[in-house]
Amino acid sequence: MNFIKELWNNKNNQKGIIDITIFFINLFLLICHVLLMFIYIIIGHKFMILVNIISTLIYISQIKACFKNQKAYVHITFIEIWTHMIFAILSFGWTASFQNWSFALIAAYYLPLSNVNSNKKTKLQSILFTLIIIITYYVISILIHIVNIPIAVTLSDTMNRILFTMNNLTSFITITMLAIFYTNLAKRKEYELTKKADYDELTDLYNRNAIIEISENLNEAISNEKDKYNIAIIDIDFFKNVNDKHGHNSGDMVLQELAQILKSYHKELIPARWGGEEFVILSTVNIKYNEFKNLMEDLRIKVSKSKFKIEKNKNINITISIGTAKVKRKQNINDALKEADERLYKAKKSGRNKVIA
Ligand code: GH3
Ligand code: MG
Ligand code: MG
Repeated sequence: MNFIKELWNNKNNQKGIIDITIFFINLFLLICHVLLMFIYIIIGHKFMILVNIISTLIYISQIKACFKNQKAYVHITFIEIWTHMIFAILSFGWTASFQNWSFALIAAYYLPLSNVNSNKKTKLQSILFTLIIIITYYVISILIHIVNIPIAVTLSDTMNRILFTMNNLTSFITITMLAIFYTNLAKRKEYELTKKADYDELTDLYNRNAIIEISENLNEAISNEKDKYNIAIIDIDFFKNVNDKHGHNSGDMVLQELAQILKSYHKELIPARWGGEEFVILSTVNIKYNEFKNLMEDLRIKVSKSKFKIEKNKNINITISIGTAKVKRKQNINDALKEADERLYKAKKSGRNKVIA
């Protein structure tokens, strides 16, 4: 149960998505082979029973590997499907639809090409693999025509229909699982890339580039000549002392906790990490400058009263200084920032733990 829980908890990272898919596809294939075992026993086909015992053992060991957090060998699964398919076609002919499994194999081999990291070698491997499948088809066709296959049997109509239905269903379910897997993986990768580009890694706030882009969008959205939005620069007071006294890790924790306060402070305010221990806050046009000043003053008080946890039983207090400015229509954010920065400097000069507007 723990294993399943762990798999589920990791479903939102790339490795987790891969692990879950490998586990479920192998589990699904194990169930398919248990069902096949019943069918082969009913048919009384000793050779396919033997093949199926080996296949089943392979899936049991693959699932065991997943449970032990070891690598399940994807290539072994491919080889199993390929050889099982060949023997089954030779035994029961084309009408039992075992050849459908080659579509699942090709899907499994081609979908990784959508990966940006795929290189010439993976491309070549996939093309080679399709060639192998095509050649396999023709070799089987020729063999069935020219030689007497010793393992070949004639199935009853019912048995033929059962195998046909089962192979169609299970092979298409496998292809669907693979397709879902690759779309999830691609989505996740895209999400992580955009997140990396827009967010600060330590605090999970917007980074400098992202906040500049947001301010440009706000500028675009402003229609009225009188509309403005507001900006504030926040700098932690004597932050160097926190690092010197308690260590860089504690400093990082303080930055993260302050980021958390900024994030949950007000829904019309957009915080970002400007760099180091400096943060920027933008307000949307819905907030007038006076209200913004009051909000910054309340924020300053809130921070000064907050306890910042730096170790298990150790809290410290910090204070912040804030400079604010209005951003007028079509004004470059950097000009407004300069103004806010000068006010921040004044706040520092006049004793810190202050908002200057
Ligand atoms: P004041 O702003 O009140 O004038 O004093 P200060 O000590 O905060 O100012 P200063 O700009 O000299 O120091 C900022 C310090 O922030 C220096 C640097 O070591 C620290 N710092 C910058 N980025 C990080 C970070 O990501 N993690 C940690 N732990 N410290 C950082
Ligand atoms: Mg600073
Ligand atoms: Mg500082």
